[in-house]
Amino acid sequence: MAARGPGGPDHRRLQPLEPQAGSDAAALTCKAERQEDGSGYRITGTKAWITHGGKADFYALFARTAPGGHGISCFLAPGATEGLSFGAPERKMGLQAVPTTAAYWDGALVEEDRRIGDEGQGLQIAFSALDSGRLGIAACATGLAQAALDAAVAYANERTTFGRRIVDHQGLGFLLADMAAAVDAARATYLDAARRRDLGRPFSRQASAAKLIATDTAMRVTTDAVQVFGGYGYTRDFPVERYMREAKIMQIFEGTNQIQRLVISRGLARPA
Ligand SMILES: Cc1cc2nc3c(=O)[nH]c(=O)nc-3n(C[C@H](O)[C@H](O)[C@H](O)COP(=O)(O)OP(=O)(O)OC[C@H]3O[C@@H](n4cnc5c(N)ncnc54)[C@H](O)[C@@H]3O)c2cc1C
Repeated sequence: MAARGPGGPDHRRLQPLEPQAGSDAAALTCKAERQEDGSGYRITGTKAWITHGGKADFYALFARTAPGGHGISCFLAPGATEGLSFGAPERKMGLQAVPTTAAYWDGALVEEDRRIGDEGQGLQIAFSALDSGRLGIAACATGLAQAALDAAVAYANERTTFGRRIVDHQGLGFLLADMAAAVDAARATYLDAARRRDLGRPFSRQASAAKLIATDTAMRVTTDAVQVFGGYGYTRDFPVERYMREAKIMQIFEGTNQIQRLVISRGLARPA
């Protein structure tokens, strides 16, 4: 669990994931055993997908202090903790600026005052951090889609085929129009959710909707931007192929877009 994420210091900090417990975060098995001599908790288990693994100064850690969903606790552990080690960086499709590794906790001792909140409050802390993190990912995805749109519009105004700029071919111009409309809709959706948060109103469902809409938009708009560039879009000479690769991870982390639909549908369900 890295203390910092790719989007900045204030989100994507809390990472409960383990190889067998991804979308189902409550299934985590990493153990935190309280020591009777008061020295702290012994942590044992493996964590997956640690952003800045091996590089961060501190790691937010979720570990089990008791069985069941209410048995998970949150800790802030120094990276230099004895018994904590990291795997080799994952070989990823994108996100090359930040290493992502596994973390191995081998009976590492974490002092008691490194626990955040009470024992058993871990999931509550994780879920509330995810709500805000999803807004951050929605904002990143909107920016990524905007960058792809800007590159595509610039290219479409320069490239000519059949004696006209490609932007003047209706088939291509309408593709750009759909891209622009989708970016506007993504931006409006995440700003609406962010304003609800700033006003202290419930925003969990809206944050999931913003993450879902903005990241699906980023995937579609970046893919269409590659199309606008034709064959050149498929090369590394232009930025749009990278935008397309970076968009994919946004549909996966901070809860996959299938999980966002789960959150939204649960928010709509009334008691039976
Ligand atoms: C590059 C990278 C960086 C990451 N960084 C972080 C990070 O900083 N912090 C962090 O916490 N995590 C991070 N992750 C982990 C990421 O959040 C998980 O990969 C993601 O939550 C999905 O978990 P999983 O990979 O175990 O997939 P699984 O949970 O195994 O899911 C596999 C597929 O099944 C679908 N699925 C699962 N359950 C359901 C369901 N109930 N209904 C419908 N569909 C379902 C999923 O949507 C997915 O399509 C990172 C992952 C990657 C690849």
